[in-house]
Amino acid sequence: EKFRTWEVTRTRTTCSYCGVGCEMDLLVKDNRVVGVEPSNGPANSGLLCVKGRFSYNFINHPDRLKTPLIRKNGRLVEAGWDEAYGLIAVKFEATKAAYGPEAFAGLASARVTNEENYLFQKMVRVVFGTNNVDHCARLCHASTVAGLATTLGSGAMTNSIDELLRSDVIFVTGSNTTETHPVIGAKIRQARLNGAKLIVAEPRRIDLAATADVFLQITPGTNVALFNAMMNVILEEGLEDREFIAGRTEGVAELREVVMKCRPEEAALICGVDAENLRRAARLYAGADRAAIFYAMGVTQHSTGTAGVMALSNLALLCGNLGKESAGVNPLRGQNNVQGACDVGCLPGDLPGYQKVSDPRVMEKFQTAWGVKLPDKPGLTVTEIIDRAGKGEIKFLHIMGENPMISDPDLNHVEEALKHTEFLVVQDIFLTETAHLADVVLPAASFAEKDGTFTNTERRVQRVRKAVDPPGEARADWVILMEIMNRLGHGKTYRDAASIMEEIADVTPQYGGISFDRLEKETLQWPCPSIDHPGTRYLHKDTFTRGKGLFKPVEYQASAELPDGDYPYLLTTGRILYHYHTNTMTGREEGLMNLHPRSFIEMSPLTAQRLAIRDGDRVTVTSRRGELTSTARVTDRIEGNIVFMPFHFADGAANLLTNSALDPLANIPELKVCAVNIARLGNG
Ligand code: SF4
Repeated sequence: EKFRTWEVTRTRTTCSYCGVGCEMDLLVKDNRVVGVEPSNGPANSGLLCVKGRFSYNFINHPDRLKTPLIRKNGRLVEAGWDEAYGLIAVKFEATKAAYGPEAFAGLASARVTNEENYLFQKMVRVVFGTNNVDHCARLCHASTVAGLATTLGSGAMTNSIDELLRSDVIFVTGSNTTETHPVIGAKIRQARLNGAKLIVAEPRRIDLAATADVFLQITPGTNVALFNAMMNVILEEGLEDREFIAGRTEGVAELREVVMKCRPEEAALICGVDAENLRRAARLYAGADRAAIFYAMGVTQHSTGTAGVMALSNLALLCGNLGKESAGVNPLRGQNNVQGACDVGCLPGDLPGYQKVSDPRVMEKFQTAWGVKLPDKPGLTVTEIIDRAGKGEIKFLHIMGENPMISDPDLNHVEEALKHTEFLVVQDIFLTETAHLADVVLPAASFAEKDGTFTNTERRVQRVRKAVDPPGEARADWVILMEIMNRLGHGKTYRDAASIMEEIADVTPQYGGISFDRLEKETLQWPCPSIDHPGTRYLHKDTFTRGKGLFKPVEYQASAELPDGDYPYLLTTGRILYHYHTNTMTGREEGLMNLHPRSFIEMSPLTAQRLAIRDGDRVTVTSRRGELTSTARVTDRIEGNIVFMPFHFADGAANLLTNSALDPLANIPELKVCAVNIARLGNG
């Protein structure tokens, strides 16, 4: 859109795409966002990626939901707010009377603000009367939260993004950083140019692999074998940090017992890498003063995801790479506010601040603060909610700003479950694949149309500011939730998002010193327990959150489903630079859709030759759970029988194929490994 500089106003806010949390200015003319400019925020230092810089047209898109919709005679038709709230109230009363609180569940959102997520989990607990609240963190970093909380005491990124510029060694594993967290990817490249050494362990020859000192092209699902063997080399060669181990950790003897059995030669065979390269990676990592690990879903989305996270934590403890600058174990959180949604209690066993529902003192504190008796039984996770819905046990489901009909594993199963739910409320900015199945759809404001905060991947709480009015009758999620709670008899009026943050700070120790007044002048990284506390750049400085760092030895186990005669290819899924998550926003961006309009499947030249497939051919891909049509991309980025699909697209949705086998500790599904078969379309 064309405009002159003097015609626009600028509103400083935070990008609503990924967890990097870049600061930006929205340029507004006549109540429309007409441009975006980077600002010099602490996470982005003046940079923005293609999504943040150019993908803002979804805000003004004609498809935006503008009125509530109610299903009548099988069709969703426009309705007023009063009618929509009235129907929710009637169904709420009837469900509660007939089935009790455990028939209710809610999915919160990693996309909306902290204030909105806080109100959502409060609504589920206080009004619905259950802890059945979860969100898509279950599908991305539940294993991080479980793994790092056990070993270190806190399940978040230990260090800050900017510190990586001063790391000696950077170890990237299970993360295609330049595409999924582009601004962090750019900073890793910058660090590399400044002399940092780079180790990359990834199933595909990603862009960062080209500049890596050691690149390990690892078979998906074999992370634990690799990390254990690296520790084997370190212990065998006496490269561990003995002083750190003696002073700050416990359990090294148990670790030694397990990893000394993990010989590099055997691990190299399991992982499909060269044993000598594995040794070089171990020596490089152990030899650095400040070595930082960055990982994402290539580590977490496995039936052994928690074990993978614990193994990385063991590696960092072994080399004394925690509790200091430019080091650490750094999970890269995917969505803009997935960290915040976890922080403010959108988890079935955790109230705000990771305070456990199973702890009677915590329950007493929240019962006093909220003035009601609260349920003390931990609730269901996303995957359990979907399963129970499929069995007809969840009768009333409220989904805010999530699209499980694209993002969750085994989509045919998800569709059946949602259709089985007696009453489904969906609150969103577009009529998503999930909203299509709803009984009531509530139109929400986008990030550009409301005030609040997001917490980025480095625990940094940043302001989101209203730049334009929402379209039609759409309302901010916090307003919708407050109005529903008032209708359902638990009234409390919040003036604005700032007053919700005051309540969050009151009950959440890590956010105790955070307020909108302070956030006008600065951004704050939690823990920030009091108003005079400056926030925390890196965790575990003199002591770990849990006291001592705990070595938690884990053994390698194969993925739940491996290639066999019927399904001979190993499918791994992921993301691409130009699209975001389930594509509800970037799918409405003409420029991005011209570049990548639909799903594709990457395969090695060997696979293509075996199946007589040429680059660009249409192919069918089948697994034990579903079938789809996609387009072949033949590339030497990938090797052997491994194939890759991005999961963004509804047309050829990769999650029709994926396996919902779960990690027993974190309940995260194995989205990164399943067995498939492929055939050229028309070949039969
Ligand atoms: Fe937005 Fe992430 Fe891109 Fe930054 S790196 S502009 S936060 S999508």
